[in-house]
Amino acid sequence: MLLPNILLTGTPGVGKTTLGKELASGSGLKYINVGDLAQEGQLYDGYDEEYDCPILDEDRVVDELENQMSKGGVIVDYHGCDFFPEHWFHIVFVLQADNSVLYKRLETRGYNEKKLKDNIQCEIFQVLYEEALASYKEEIVHQLPSNKPEDPEDNINQILKWIEQWVKDHSS
Ligand code: ADP
Ligand code: MG
Repeated sequence: MLLPNILLTGTPGVGKTTLGKELASGSGLKYINVGDLAQEGQLYDGYDEEYDCPILDEDRVVDELENQMSKGGVIVDYHGCDFFPEHWFHIVFVLQADNSVLYKRLETRGYNEKKLKDNIQCEIFQVLYEEALASYKEEIVHQLPSNKPEDPEDNINQILKWIEQWVKDHSS
């Protein structure tokens, strides 16, 4: 059976990993966290001193994922989306959280003042939404609210319906 590939993106802290893992268990699709994948394979290209984090080697990440993506049925989770091949994804969800909610989540993570401020600005200016619109066809890019504990369940129910329809449309 043919299954779609789904991209979950958005500012750090919006809830991609929470949603992605639950969606994977509800749908049977495979969940891939690009941050974890990079860490495991050391898919890095230098170090960002300002942000105190390694720089992702985007080409190696793409090479690493190509095989699985071509088979379908993958949920990809990352706070960036412009370096993936456009044809990989059948639908793109940009998760969004209110500033006050996001601020608390990132504070809990122990982000320093600069990282906190930059990420909140990233959310205010809808940087990831703009990046998604610039990288994928507008009609496959959707925004999803991710503020309240019941949001993931609502989002998952919607996505499961979409997957079901996609599978119907792509069978036979
Ligand atoms: P991301 O993967 O986008 O960085 P996470 O899924 O790790 O975000 O979520 C960040 C934090 O916010 C976690 O503590 C998580 O439990 C919480 N969280 C995620 N989604 C929601 C939501 N819809 N409502 C309340 N808290 C949430
Ligand atoms: Mg995450």
